[in-house]
Amino acid sequence: MDDQVWLQSLTWEEVAQKTRESKNTIILPVGSTEQHGTHLPVGTDTMVATALAESAARKAEVLVAPPLWFGWSPHHMVLPGTITIRPEILIEVVYDVVKSLNGHGFDKLIFLNGHRLVNISWLQIAGERTKRELGVKVAIFDPAFMSKEFTQSFGWGEVGHADEIESSHMWYCYPELVKMDRAKDNPHKHRKLYRVDPKYRGDTLCYVPSSPAEQEALVRISGGTSGEPSKASQEGGKKYHEHLVEALVVVIKTVQEQK
Ligand SMILES: [Zn+2]
Repeated sequence: MDDQVWLQSLTWEEVAQKTRESKNTIILPVGSTEQHGTHLPVGTDTMVATALAESAARKAEVLVAPPLWFGWSPHHMVLPGTITIRPEILIEVVYDVVKSLNGHGFDKLIFLNGHRLVNISWLQIAGERTKRELGVKVAIFDPAFMSKEFTQSFGWGEVGHADEIESSHMWYCYPELVKMDRAKDNPHKHRKLYRVDPKYRGDTLCYVPSSPAEQEALVRISGGTSGEPSKASQEGGKKYHEHLVEALVVVIKTVQEQK
């Protein structure tokens, strides 16, 4: 952990100084704690968000707030380790965190979403409210949207769960936590409509969480994975990480330059 970019590692005097030096900009990583198949840790979504935030914060010289480890994950409650909070609680927590940070001068916030499509709606509501009520500038950075051209060119399939994209990223950032020998493939069944992946033209952007029975079926097939983690590679994870960090730095600068 790079102590210089994490808010929680600094004294209040250091925070005050960094607030000024960062042009009042801070990243808030928002993830989840939920099952990620038999080969990835339950903290995967938060871990990938913190890894991206840390790398980009170092380059852009901004701070990172302590990550939110909980998201909306009712669809993964069939397996141990999953913790879910209600969406309205998530919206309220994000609002209160932003209000606190804003009270001490931060007025440019990047919500870094590690929990894919499932957290986006709530972050949009929280972002709109904080912008309207507190007058802060907010951007939501979502790795799936920000990497759609990249992952396609890399030969990875569509966004799933504990899939080749997440597995590659985790394998690169946290090799000691990944058990690739335990990974089980569960290839996507191609549907003409109702595909939920921003890189496809047929993406319908409609998300309905699975029922416990559907999730139990998934567990029997693959231990909770959708996608093909056997296509994962550390090298791919490195390129994916670097691609996203570059994009995140651009987003940070854009927010800082907004009038
Ligand atoms: Zn995930």
